Parts: sequence; C-alpha cells; structure tokens
Amino acid sequence: MGTRRNFLEKITISTVGLSLINSPASLFAASNETYQGPELKVALMGLGSYAGRVADAMQDCKRAKITGLISGTPSKLKEWGDKYDVAEKNRYNYENFDAIKDNPEIDAVYIITPNGLHKDQAIRVAKAGKHVISEKPMGINAAEGQAMVDACKAANVKLLIGYRMHFEPKTVAVIQMRKDGEFGQPKFFQGQSGFVIGDPTQWRLDKKLAGGGAMMDIGIYSINGARYMLGEDPIWVTAQETKTDPEKFKEGVDETIQFQMGFPSGAVANCLSTYAMNNLDRFFMTGSDGFVEMQPSTGYGPIEGNTHKGKLTQPHVTHQTLQMDGMAAIIFDGKQPIVPVDGEEGVKDMKIIDAIFEAAKTGGKVDVKV
Ligand code: NAD
Repeated sequence: MGTRRNFLEKITISTVGLSLINSPASLFAASNETYQGPELKVALMGLGSYAGRVADAMQDCKRAKITGLISGTPSKLKEWGDKYDVAEKNRYNYENFDAIKDNPEIDAVYIITPNGLHKDQAIRVAKAGKHVISEKPMGINAAEGQAMVDACKAANVKLLIGYRMHFEPKTVAVIQMRKDGEFGQPKFFQGQSGFVIGDPTQWRLDKKLAGGGAMMDIGIYSINGARYMLGEDPIWVTAQETKTDPEKFKEGVDETIQFQMGFPSGAVANCLSTYAMNNLDRFFMTGSDGFVEMQPSTGYGPIEGNTHKGKLTQPHVTHQTLQMDGMAAIIFDGKQPIVPVDGEEGVKDMKIIDAIFEAAKTGGKVDVKV
C-alpha cells in the first residue's frame, strides 16, 4: 500500500521462530515439523500491490499454497504464473474464472481487487463452489457484505475476510490479556489510522470502486481494533468530517473523519481515520486496572506494544503467512482464531462504517445494531 506500510515493515523472522510463540497465534502458525495434512489450494484474484505481498508471504505457508491466478492482464498472468509456479491451466481472467468450478486444483479464491468489486466477485466464486477469502473492507456497505454472507451460505462455502491482525502474535496476546481480565474492565480505546494518499487518479479515491475514502481503507482498522481491544460491539456512533482538499477528495470520498463509538458497558472509543497524515498507526486502550499502547498497531509490523505489565515481546512473524495458514486451519479443522474472521465479522464493521458516514453527514448520534 502507501509509504506508511513500507516504512513499517522492517524485519521478518523466518518460520523457525514460529513454534516459540507463546500465544494462541501459535495454534495457527506453521512449525518446523513437516506438515502432512491437506494444503489449502488458493487462487489469487487481482494481481496488484497487496496480492504481491500475500503471494510472497504464502511462500512460507505450511498449509496453504498458490495454485491459481485470476487477472485481466495476460502479461501479469504469465509473469506471476512463472514466478509462483502456477500451471497455465489454472490461470484465468475476469471473463472466464467461473470455470474454476471444474478445477479441483483450486479450493478457495482470495479476492484482492478494489473494494467495489468484491461483492460480485465473491458471489461468482461462491457459485463456483469455492471458498471465498475477501480483502477488507469486504464490500462498500453492509448490504453488500450481507449479500456475500448469504451467497456463501447458500453455496455452502466459507467466507473469510483478510483481517490479518487477528493472527498477529502481539495483538492476540493483548486480546488474551483483556479476556483474562488483566486490564480490569475495559473503559476507553483510542485508535488513529492514516497515511497521506498519493496519486489522485487511483481507485482508492474513486467512490464507486472504493466505497469511500480513508475510512474504508484504513479507518476500518480502528473500528475493528476498538471491537477486539474492548471486547464489545458499539451501540452508537458520532462523527465529524474534515475536508481540506475537495478536488482530490470528491463527494463521498472522505479525507479525515474523527469518530466516537459507545459500547454497552459504558466504554467509549475516540478514533481518527485519515488520508492526510502520515504514519498514523496507534492504538491505546485502558481499563479500570491497566493499559496497553501499540504503535505501530496494524501496519505490516513489527507491531510494538507496551502495557502496565511491561513490553509486548512476542516475535514478529509475517502477518499474511500466519493468516493464510490460520485460514487453512479454519477451513480444514474448523479451528477459530481468537476473534473471528468470518463474513459476519466483516458485516459488523460495514454496519459501523455505514453509521459513521450517516453520523458525519447528519452531525447526530446514530444508533448501531450489529
Ligand atoms: P492495487 O491497486 O495495488 O491492486 C488492485 C488490483 O485489482 C490490480 O491488480 C488491478 O489491476 C486489479 N483490478 C481489477 N479490476 C480493476 C478495476 N476495475 N479497477 C482497478 N483495478 C482493478 O490495490 P491493493 O492495494 O492491492 O488493494 C486491493 C485490496 O486489498 C483492497 O480491497 C484493499 O483494501 C486491500 N488491502 C488490504 C491490505 C491489508 O493489509 N489487509 C493492504 C492493502 C490492501
């Protein structure tokens, strides 16, 4: 993605360290032992920047491998096919990919295209009888997300969303601490997510393809983070939008939104989502008895964190490697991560985003029912 991402990714440890992770993430991590079970055969759809990161990370997966490619650009199919050793017969374009239905070498399709395309593509994949992994945001509103959930249910395939933080060791450790009551009663969350977006012609600034602006792309991390850090779903939101460049950020494309969420326990969250400030990647949560601060909190890592009990020391592992091995465990073993990554989880975030947009527009407090 943007410069913020590149800035954040500095080190990656090899899978050698994986078995040392003392957290529930290790349930999903590959180990050095030879894996004997089935491998999740994944076709990547949309061969752009994030798909490249996923493809490279999947080279270290023990339970998932790339067996198919879907792209509208023949030269990319050839280049990626050669690089990742994907047979020519498993390379498709956007017109003919429904034919994966008859391809036993593909179990799942990982949709990594612009947000506004996810819903229709997911429905086609589900109709082809293959599991769907969709990047976040799962669609451009809750209705789209629900349509994806319904289509996957009807086709009896799994729908998983690319919430890589749900597999990240330090994040998992913090969620476990919160579940164990180590922060006492969670009270307050602050999430700041943003970077300065470049090229004004990119799809991320096109309402139809992106569904919005910073909120859909990066603000969603603070929304999802508030929910997993506090352990609750919000019941109301308020929001205030600031737009300094209406030429670049057209109608329906948010530049900066500050938003608040209220939770049933009385906990509150105060968050900032922006395409106008660089390197904004910080979570803070405090409960009645303790706190955690993470910065970076959702970048590609290493994640850094501190709590009232000291520094978080779980090792960095490439998020997408853990995610894809974890998703294989979900599909093959029904093993659930500490916080789900299913379609219903995705719809919750979409409902909250819908409410935030409404609150920003009306200036009022909007009830949310996830
Ligand atoms: P990108 O622009 O680099 O790649 C998008 C790909 O989709 C390109 O290969 C492009 O050719 C293809 N595409 C197909 N149809 C298109 C169309 N009509 N218009 C434009 N492109 C089209 O974008 P990206 O950064 O790889 O993002 C793709 C998805 O991945 C988005 O949903 C984004 O939110 C998500 N993403 C997730 C993370 C994460 O950390 N989980 C990080 C980055 C991006």
